Amino acid sequence: MNIQDLIRPTIKALKSYSSARDEFQGATDDMVFLDANENPYENGVNRYPDPQQRELKTILSRIKGVPTQNILLGNGSDEVLDLVFRAFCEPNVDNIITLPPTYGMYSVLANINAIGIKSVQLSDDFQPQVDKILDSTNSESKILFLCSPNNPTGNSFNTAEMEILLNKFNGIVVIDEAYIDFSTEKSWIHRQEEFPNLIVTQTLSKAYGMAGIRLGICYASAEIISVLNRIKPPYNVNHLTQLKAMEQLNVNDLAKNQINDILKERDVLISELEGVDFVSKIYPSDANFVLAKVDDATKRYNQLIEKGIVIRNRTTQPGCENCLRFTVGTSEENKVLISTLKSI
Ligand SMILES: *Cc1c(COP(=O)(O)O)cnc(C)c1O
Repeated sequence: MNIQDLIRPTIKALKSYSSARDEFQGATDDMVFLDANENPYENGVNRYPDPQQRELKTILSRIKGVPTQNILLGNGSDEVLDLVFRAFCEPNVDNIITLPPTYGMYSVLANINAIGIKSVQLSDDFQPQVDKILDSTNSESKILFLCSPNNPTGNSFNTAEMEILLNKFNGIVVIDEAYIDFSTEKSWIHRQEEFPNLIVTQTLSKAYGMAGIRLGICYASAEIISVLNRIKPPYNVNHLTQLKAMEQLNVNDLAKNQINDILKERDVLISELEGVDFVSKIYPSDANFVLAKVDDATKRYNQLIEKGIVIRNRTTQPGCENCLRFTVGTSEENKVLISTLKSI
């Protein structure tokens, strides 16, 4: 597969904006900066942030074992996904493939960008239906989204089937690994050389506990990363976000310990949910949430709201009739949830 053939002609021809910070590199502290019309009085944020987030990427590169040239950072993974649409999908011409029930942003971003959507529902056990997916594609199908572990179902997709899709789908395959740190499955971030059409997205919003700073991570071949770099807004990751991310990532084992605690709490939550009489099915989870089928999801959702507990009602999603999604909270929060479920 030739990645260059997949890139939109407009993007290929693009001359990207060159910011003051792009044009001059190699700054040292004793230099005088009069190039970017900034306010000269120091307050910690009076200068534009590093458009390439070099220091933060170096830390991520070390933690994840991926060279910095294979990493792009965005204002949440939502921005990263939007960049992928704009690089590869021609408005009013191209289409993407999504596998519902799954993360809603893929179709929202498709709609915003005037891109068609082909939906191929997951099987009863929430796995991709490989033949149906390949049959549904045409020459305008540019991106296939695989969310694994999947939201809202919580399960990981079968690795062998994902490999078939990567080999046979004639476009970009985005594997959304927002929940990978909770999973027993291996990440795909080290497999770019095998699959040139692979883009993996991760985020600091879930396992790393930084939803508030908005930091999404994209791993792909240097070729794909350089295309995305040309279209990203120059200062898309702000200075405070870069600082906070580095501060938290530098605390040894912080995320690892929290992930372990969340996984223990997930087991407790699942076994307690089994004792709730209106819960009829609990789906296996490889993430920090649990999907469960109940007698009447909307009724139970409203009852919980009345008691001040907010969960997610997924009953309108295909294949998720009467399903509720519970995020794993602290031990105390989960106890409140369970005792409330048992009292209603
Ligand atoms: C939460 C979530 C994200 C995270 O998006 P951010 O913009 O990085 O916060 C991405 N994908 C899925 C499937 C999610 O559930």
